[in-house]
Amino acid sequence: MRPIQMVDTKTQYHKIKPEVDKAVLEVMESTAFINGKQVQDFTDHLSVYLGARHVIPCANGTDALQIAMMALGLQPGDEVITPSFTYIATTEVIALLKLTPVFVEVDAQTFCMDPVSLENAITPKTKAIVPVHLYGHAAPMEPIMAIAKKYNLFVIEDNAQAIGCDYQFADGSKKKTGTIGHMGTTSFYPSKNLGAFGDGGAIFTDNSELAGKLKIIANHGQSKRYYHDVVGCNSRLDTLQAAILDIKLKHLDEYIGARRKAADAYDKAFAGLSKIKTPYRASYSNHVFHQYTLILDGVDRDGLKQFLEENNIPSMIYYPVPGHKQKMFAQFASDALVMPITDWLTQRVISLPIHTELEDEQIDFITTTVLKFINK
Ligand SMILES: *Cc1c(COP(=O)(O)O)cnc(C)c1O
Repeated sequence: MRPIQMVDTKTQYHKIKPEVDKAVLEVMESTAFINGKQVQDFTDHLSVYLGARHVIPCANGTDALQIAMMALGLQPGDEVITPSFTYIATTEVIALLKLTPVFVEVDAQTFCMDPVSLENAITPKTKAIVPVHLYGHAAPMEPIMAIAKKYNLFVIEDNAQAIGCDYQFADGSKKKTGTIGHMGTTSFYPSKNLGAFGDGGAIFTDNSELAGKLKIIANHGQSKRYYHDVVGCNSRLDTLQAAILDIKLKHLDEYIGARRKAADAYDKAFAGLSKIKTPYRASYSNHVFHQYTLILDGVDRDGLKQFLEENNIPSMIYYPVPGHKQKMFAQFASDALVMPITDWLTQRVISLPIHTELEDEQIDFITTTVLKFINK
């Protein structure tokens, strides 16, 4: 059995190595390292895959969020509502731009923004909402968009963990996550579902005016070379990364299928246990399993983590400290801010290895080891 890893990008690479190596060498020969034609090719293909009119590439998923927020032209002190239970990048950029992050609860089943908590947090200063499709499960976008419309708010979807996920609306129609709000952002960090061999990110929108602003902001605020209209930043997707991503995009649906297959096998092994809750799959979301995250009930989590480690099985806690309890946000978290569901989840979640290369015998070994500990 191969050693078990949280992600196995090496085996995945080896399966497409000839194609990737050829594409990389082509970029090297062309020496068009910045804005080579592969960047445009990849963004065109991603735009078709997602069904998004505009895809603006950038340097990473954090920049994507920052650039999206900059395009809204918000003023210091404007409030942006976001879940507390997310990766720090989502919330950090809000504070970086001198906006006020307002933390709301997630649903205890989907781990995604709770629309009731969202609506309760809206004030006259609220300008935008940033739902996160956490672990690869879609946030409830239909209710979120209805609230956004009612209060005239912008929606930026943080789709870093859910690229390729389909959201189904009540009328049966479907859209990819990240293309439902005014803008969507993603990350091509190597361990993400569509991972580069380094950093990368992108912003999606159907709105041409926003697309124009996003392009200008990501490129030093210039609409014409050396004429800088607004303060922007320098955030680009490397040609090398775009060339690799263009190849991997063709495999994305197959990669998602492999992740789902692994998740199904885990679900089956853990079915019916009272101490382990397997990931919920809402009828509106086809989970893409960026993470496979269990909720433990009455299980010593540290003990389980250590027991797995002793058996050479890695596991992770995403995330041990929610946003509203991070030191960096102390000024935004009053004592009155209580988030029982978020706190409850942060104490009970554990993520098991999931990636495109997991083998049946690895999954068997992981589930057997987990069950051995649970039944001890
Ligand atoms: C990975 C991630 C990001 C940031 O992406 P980087 O490319 O690492 O900057 C943002 N939000 C979420 C939810 C993520 O998982």
